[in-house]
Amino acid sequence: MPVNIAPYLDKLSEIFKVSDALYLNSQNHYIDGEGAPFSCTGCQDNCCTTVFYHYTLIEYFYLAEGLSKISDDEMAGAIAERSQAYFMEIVRNPFKTNSLRIMCPLNFDGKCIVYENRPLICRVHGVASSLNQPGKAAQLWDGCKKFVELHGGKEFPLVIDRTPFYSQIAALEGQLRKEMVYFQRYRKTIAEMIIDFIKDEPFLSNPPAPPTCPHASKGI
Ligand code: SF4
Repeated sequence: MPVNIAPYLDKLSEIFKVSDALYLNSQNHYIDGEGAPFSCTGCQDNCCTTVFYHYTLIEYFYLAEGLSKISDDEMAGAIAERSQAYFMEIVRNPFKTNSLRIMCPLNFDGKCIVYENRPLICRVHGVASSLNQPGKAAQLWDGCKKFVELHGGKEFPLVIDRTPFYSQIAALEGQLRKEMVYFQRYRKTIAEMIIDFIKDEPFLSNPPAPPTCPHASKGI
């Protein structure tokens, strides 16, 4: 029986609302020399060119919800082509993904076209943040290049703690996977997620599919 993922997406949306609010609070805390809150405006080092891996199915389904709203066939075709090219670049450079710079297939003219449905890392990357995982040393990220240029070189007075978000998403992911009986490792770039979506769902201007799990009917 297909798994109804709508309640999971609602819960993820609530988690993202909190992370977005904290990010906004952090932006307002870090004011530049002209009195403006920290923002991406004018940044030449677009972080959408960084190769990130995503580790949860729940974020895939959330992204898929955003992709299903794209009704422009030309844009959908361009996304499909860009995703394939992105994927091939990773295949050609499997050990250099940290230094590779490839524009995300979902960034058009500097804007994310699935902004409301972007994954967690796209929401918290930028400002200083930390992560505390049991049994591991605490991790601290100084923020993106622009943030470090403006505010680096001293102790950060405000750091976003990613720990509760990762913990809550992991708990949600665990419940979802149990219901789906899906226990494989998940580690995909945004391009791979899009390619999966193209295989799983109607991608062009059809009405959005109801938010059920596409894998359930395939017995994965
Ligand atoms: S999903 Fe959106 S925010 Fe994230 S890398 Fe792609 S374009 Fe940028």
